[in-house]
Amino acid sequence: MQYISTRGGSPVALEDAIMAGTAPDGGLFVPVDLPALDPAQAPVDAPINEFAAYALQPFFRGSSLENQLESICDEAFNFPAPLRGVQNAPDALSVLELFHGPTAAFKDFGARFLAVTMSRIIRQRQQPDDAPATIVVATSGDTGGAVAAAFHKQPGTRVVVLFPEGRVSPRQQHQLTCWGDNIISLAVQGEFDDCQRVAKQLFADSDSTARFNLCSANSINVGRLLPQSVYYAKTSTDLNAERGEGGRYIVPTGNLGNAFACAWAKTMGYPIEELVLATNANTTIPDYLDSGNWQPRGSVATLASAMDVGDPSNMERLRHLWGDAADLRNRVRAYSVTDEQIRAQIVSEFERQGIAWCPHTATGFHVYRKQLSDGDRAGKHWIIAATAHAAKFDTIVEPLIGEQVPVPDELAQLLEWPAHYETITADPAEVIARLG
Ligand SMILES: *Cc1c(COP(=O)(O)O)cnc(C)c1O
Repeated sequence: MQYISTRGGSPVALEDAIMAGTAPDGGLFVPVDLPALDPAQAPVDAPINEFAAYALQPFFRGSSLENQLESICDEAFNFPAPLRGVQNAPDALSVLELFHGPTAAFKDFGARFLAVTMSRIIRQRQQPDDAPATIVVATSGDTGGAVAAAFHKQPGTRVVVLFPEGRVSPRQQHQLTCWGDNIISLAVQGEFDDCQRVAKQLFADSDSTARFNLCSANSINVGRLLPQSVYYAKTSTDLNAERGEGGRYIVPTGNLGNAFACAWAKTMGYPIEELVLATNANTTIPDYLDSGNWQPRGSVATLASAMDVGDPSNMERLRHLWGDAADLRNRVRAYSVTDEQIRAQIVSEFERQGIAWCPHTATGFHVYRKQLSDGDRAGKHWIIAATAHAAKFDTIVEPLIGEQVPVPDELAQLLEWPAHYETITADPAEVIARLG
């Protein structure tokens, strides 16, 4: 399988698409042909690592990693993505729990898979006296922790995490800064867009790129999207085998990476009946579906901060796959949820289910309960993607529900580790000074 930019040009190998991150013309890499599958062939009720090796095989065909795919999936998919029924829902409703990885958010799927594949490519390519590969990641909160966890102590690599000072939750910040060893954590004075700009400026500087062997692990790397398609492919396959009908998914959405992976799985032929996006008060995507005008803008800070994106990068991939607004409207819906609605939803779900959901997942519940019509829901089985564990957002959730959220074991361990980071201005020279 070869990969091509959404803007055209010549195809490149999987290894090159992964190592480059973004295509040289500024577009995003996508497979030249999306494999079409016979859903009847997909393994039913398989462990997720085995399903992943099945589903990702066509994407690795002809690459130097083809024969390593099973072991890559064993290493990367070493935690589950369970589908759990929701109590007290009038119609069938399940939650796809994507927060059982080391940093308790769905970003662990993409980051671990990318880290395992990238480290193997780096090992194949590295000469004995090469500088370590330096992976630069700009994060709005969850990505950086997942990437740091995945690359921590991987030989031949180091990671620079750039996060916006004061704009991540205290526990997210801990996950960004507790690593040490080969991980450098830098708080940038500014917002997420400033972190992203510094990263882009570093990559645009060919001297630094060569001297420090810079690689990008940003959310648009195709190596992060591939593994995210796996849990949609698997859960829809399992549901279809059980009930003769596949999945209808509601996906909390920011940069559109998670939901795009669902669109991919649907296009490949997995039994996905519907895809609905839940955004926070950043309404670029719902506005586009309404008006047909693509109007990216600055982001608005919300309680679901990992979805604070005003210019969702993966829309370029979705339009490449499914067409512009007029076509997209027939295939996907999007609803926006305000902070006030997020708060109310966290409280009402806690009352109904006795479970605290994170602010991102709460947007999905709000869409299901308040924005889908009775006809949308009646007799249908919906699945809400739960993108993070509520314990990561304790400072938001606990005052709302009036109790403490139990902390999952992995997260509890990380919170014991001491944190260290430096604060810098939004200037690439400040990063370079720390790489020396
Ligand atoms: C990143 C993130 C999202 C948004 O996912 P996208 O792929 O950017 O749309 C939603 N929830 C949580 C908890 C996240 O970390």
